[in-house]
Amino acid sequence: MFNKILIANRGEIAVRVIKTCRKLGVKTVVVYSDADAGSMAVEMADESVHIGPSPAAESYLVMDKIVEAVKQTGAEAVHPGFGFLSENAEFAKRLEKEKIAFIGPNPHAIEAMGDKISSKKLAAEAGVSTVPGHMGLIESTEEAVKISKEIGYPVMIKASAGGGGKGIRIAYDDRDVEEGYPAVKAEATASFGDDRIFIEKFILEPRHVEIQVMGDKHGNCVYLFERECSIQRRNQKVLEEAPSPLLDEATRKKMGEQAVALAKAVNYDSAGTVEFVASGKDKSFYFLEMNTRLQVEHPVTEMITGVDLVEQMLRSACGEKLALKQKDLKINGWAIESRVYAEDPYRNFLPSIGRLRRFLPPVEGPLGGGTVRMDSGVREGDEISMFYDPMIAKLVTHGATRDDALDVQALALDRFHIEGIRDNIPFCAAVMDETRFRSGNITTAYIKDEFPEGFQGTEPTSKQVEYLVAAAAFAHGVMTQRAGQIDGRMAPQPPLRQNWVVILGNDYLPISLDLNEGQAAIELNGASHSVVSAWTPGNPLFEGVLDGETFAVKISIETDGFEVMHRGVTRRALICSPAIAELHQRLPEKEKPDLSKLIISPMPGLVVSVDVEVGQIVEEGEAVCIVEAMKMQNIIRAEAQGSVKAINVGAGDSVAADEVMVEFE
Ligand code: ADP
Ligand code: ADP
Ligand code: MG
Repeated sequence: MFNKILIANRGEIAVRVIKTCRKLGVKTVVVYSDADAGSMAVEMADESVHIGPSPAAESYLVMDKIVEAVKQTGAEAVHPGFGFLSENAEFAKRLEKEKIAFIGPNPHAIEAMGDKISSKKLAAEAGVSTVPGHMGLIESTEEAVKISKEIGYPVMIKASAGGGGKGIRIAYDDRDVEEGYPAVKAEATASFGDDRIFIEKFILEPRHVEIQVMGDKHGNCVYLFERECSIQRRNQKVLEEAPSPLLDEATRKKMGEQAVALAKAVNYDSAGTVEFVASGKDKSFYFLEMNTRLQVEHPVTEMITGVDLVEQMLRSACGEKLALKQKDLKINGWAIESRVYAEDPYRNFLPSIGRLRRFLPPVEGPLGGGTVRMDSGVREGDEISMFYDPMIAKLVTHGATRDDALDVQALALDRFHIEGIRDNIPFCAAVMDETRFRSGNITTAYIKDEFPEGFQGTEPTSKQVEYLVAAAAFAHGVMTQRAGQIDGRMAPQPPLRQNWVVILGNDYLPISLDLNEGQAAIELNGASHSVVSAWTPGNPLFEGVLDGETFAVKISIETDGFEVMHRGVTRRALICSPAIAELHQRLPEKEKPDLSKLIISPMPGLVVSVDVEVGQIVEEGEAVCIVEAMKMQNIIRAEAQGSVKAINVGAGDSVAADEVMVEFE
């Protein structure tokens, strides 16, 4: 085994690799940019080397700096994590030349699989089923239309060098191709400096199912079953599970064996993933691409197989023989992962950056009927910057069955609290309870199908109303009693009022509350409930037992009440006397300011371009400007037709969230 390795990555994955190295007694070095000085990974590693400014192009992507850091610290090998240089064959070759081990596959395998067209050809040769389509390059729009017609609509136009959901378009007819072909070509040139395009059939009811493979330098290779990653937004994964609800034993075996055949065809000698698109209609499956690296969602595979994939990668990289045998590998239970993103699910999943004022993840270990694992790379007080990927943590849960794993995931999400930035936890939590997701009948269009207007939060069930009311009423009781105790030095403590009205959102719910030393009896809608909790003011998590059942509600104290949240439900809760409640009910609806005449930056970022001029008439839906944050360009469109009155920003300016960029008459 190596004595010391260098991790050429940051955040959550750097921390993940360090954990395994500690277990194996391997010393670690991490490299870091300005933005990551003092990060969790830097703190945990044995050594760290500063490699430059925050933009990845000036730090994590500069091979010379990484190699220099290896030499300076005497590390023997490099783990690239995912993203950055992990699938860069030049980097793997460079390390080979410098006699530094690469904890990943050989450069030839990376090269062969790095290109979607060439890997598809290789896959077909290895007997892997591929998506029907045109395996050659397409040179013009006319040719694109002709080939699309031959394949039959719908088709997918793809950049051969594409990745990360970029450079992909669906076309349903000739017009879509006429529009989509040049668009994908332009995006491919801009993102990958490579404008080669191909077209394949769009698989109906597509589900993303991928096979984890693991190989060594002695020609051995096994598959560690599948993961399903169909819950995606912008072609990027949000929830991943293992195994897949779609596969049966026979399909699983066929897919696994094809993946191994492909891996063997390129002498694959590390952890890798063969991605397939499977049809929910008939379970037919087709090769998409191979990712020649550790995958973000590898923990779900680790949870169901008990194999530490990072450990296996280290062993293979230093020449050990694969100790895993196919016949010994078994699926144990079910695992699911939520990618926790710094993004606002209520605003079309736009990136959100800022300081983590609070970061209270759920506790690792047993919860409900399963177990919780947290893979995170941040701590309270850390800054989430605009320079990198918006993923800040992964929450993984395991249970005996799919329902168990999902139940535990929901319970864990209820206990995961973040303040300072927006996060997608309420969205993931809402999906856990959603009927179609529960049934397992999902496709990659799930988010678009089920949340066509975007995520607006969910409506509470009657059980959830009980949770929210119980938490708010209990908290209010505790706070009133405390206030009474402080005043009590002068006057005898007043008895706690029994009858209240909880104004939950727009609903007026009369209750009676009897609170005594951490126990309450609450009457709601004619039924009485018992609530036990040790909650104290200031705790953002209200954990309690309602009628014998544990629950957790996120609670924040506001000037005139609380904000309470359970799964995807968020409500304001005011607790007042019946008389005040009646007054409240008669208050006029507050007037809202007219925001439709302003173009407001939805997040902090960098203005890429302003595409309108003063005096110009802009139509509804027309692009007004582009703001970049976290590697994503966000086109900001006009909400209504109008004439441009003022432009307050220009290309290159940085903008704050809610900054007014353009004003209309
Ligand atoms: P998968 O691993 O399933 O293919 P992605 O394509 O989303 O999922 O993962 C690769 C992406 O991970 C890269 O394109 C990059 O944007 C992102 N990435 C790279 N480094 C990190 C990191 N330290 N933390 C989170 N995400 C990262
Ligand atoms: P990337 O390199 O960006 O990960 P992929 O080729 O893996 O690109 O495709 C991204 C996603 O698009 C897949 O996860 C899958 O859901 C969907 N997809 C890709 N090709 C097809 C296809 N031919 N039919 C249906 N869906 C597809
Ligand atoms: Mg992919």
